[in-house]
Amino acid sequence: MNSWTSVAIPQLNKSHKIPQLSLTNSKTLNKELMLKKQTYRMYVCGITPYDATHLGHAATYLTFDLINRYLRATGSTVLYVQNITDIDDPLLERAARDNVNWEDLALSQIDLFRADMMNLRVLAPDHYIGAVESIDLVSQAVTSLQAAGAIYTIEKDLFFKNYSSPDFGSLSHLDKEQMKEIFSQRGGNPTLPGKIDPLDCLVWMAKRDDEPGWPSVHGVGRPGWHIECTAIALKYLEPVNSQHTCIDIQGGGSDLIFPHHEMCASQAQVLTGKDLAAMYVHTAMIGLDGEKMSKSKGNLVFVSKLIQSGADPMAIRFALMSQHYRIDRMWTDELLTQATARLGNIRTALSAPVVAPTDSVIEKLIHALSDDLDTPTALSALDRWAAQTMDGVSGGDANELSAALDCLLGLAL
Ligand code: ZN
Repeated sequence: MNSWTSVAIPQLNKSHKIPQLSLTNSKTLNKELMLKKQTYRMYVCGITPYDATHLGHAATYLTFDLINRYLRATGSTVLYVQNITDIDDPLLERAARDNVNWEDLALSQIDLFRADMMNLRVLAPDHYIGAVESIDLVSQAVTSLQAAGAIYTIEKDLFFKNYSSPDFGSLSHLDKEQMKEIFSQRGGNPTLPGKIDPLDCLVWMAKRDDEPGWPSVHGVGRPGWHIECTAIALKYLEPVNSQHTCIDIQGGGSDLIFPHHEMCASQAQVLTGKDLAAMYVHTAMIGLDGEKMSKSKGNLVFVSKLIQSGADPMAIRFALMSQHYRIDRMWTDELLTQATARLGNIRTALSAPVVAPTDSVIEKLIHALSDDLDTPTALSALDRWAAQTMDGVSGGDANELSAALDCLLGLAL
């Protein structure tokens, strides 16, 4: 699958020391320092292309974009992979509801997603991989799980025994009753007759009437969602055998911790004997005007619609960064209005004939971001710098600050 076009990232002035990044690891519930590495391997779960790109999506990909940018600023390389679940029940259900072809729906939403990511200046993944193009890959992964004795069949569908991994449950910190309840809410079907354990998950679904299917050694069918991500991450991130974990970061929204990431981790553990990721990073949910934003409530706010209605994509980016990625938060028109005003002040200051000292504000940006992506503190430092500049304080270099804003925050002003 074609990715989108990345923008070039300006370099930071070499005089700035860039500390190692610390992030909150959902598995340990601790803020942890990322070890210095030449290459970081990051996998972020992509969209199911039927309702791209709402602000929850945007906040997630923006967060991992900040991580991507920061790690690159430390001088390391980031190998970044994202998937697209371009075949799954929700996509087929939406296509049936709207009486459109599921492939056309997927392609149109993927195009929209790419355009939104480019507008928001989100760096493109190195590999952008669809489920449909990964049928053989997933089928091979299922065969390997089968060889490990972790697969059984109900009718013609194949299920993975999550408890094949001794670590199952260690990411989400949920007890079994909680897991069953969430699994049921998220399409896991724990009461399906024939299951050895209620939490076992579908890895290969035999073709149903009137649904697409692809030939494989497991029969004609399609992949389950969790094994799709596991197989794509393990293939395209090229894990290094000598390392204790397969990849450095697995990321997504906090609603993916269970069952999705827990089950991916379980599958990867059986396939490789290792933990899938050194760090599991999750972004909080975005609500709207006091309510949870969700498909079922029909109150999703779309990036493309905001831009069509005249919103500056950089103001959307600024607004999403004005609160911390780990805190569930509300989107309001007021938030965008404030972000637009703050951005306007910073733009005005950047074009002033003399500007307040910039080295110190760049240091503050770096320091705030290094501490679990503290974007609210970083943006407040920018507000103060803009105010000082408008008060006539001098001694800075606007070009250097512009480059730093683009490099670290993805803000092109
Ligand atoms: Zn995923």
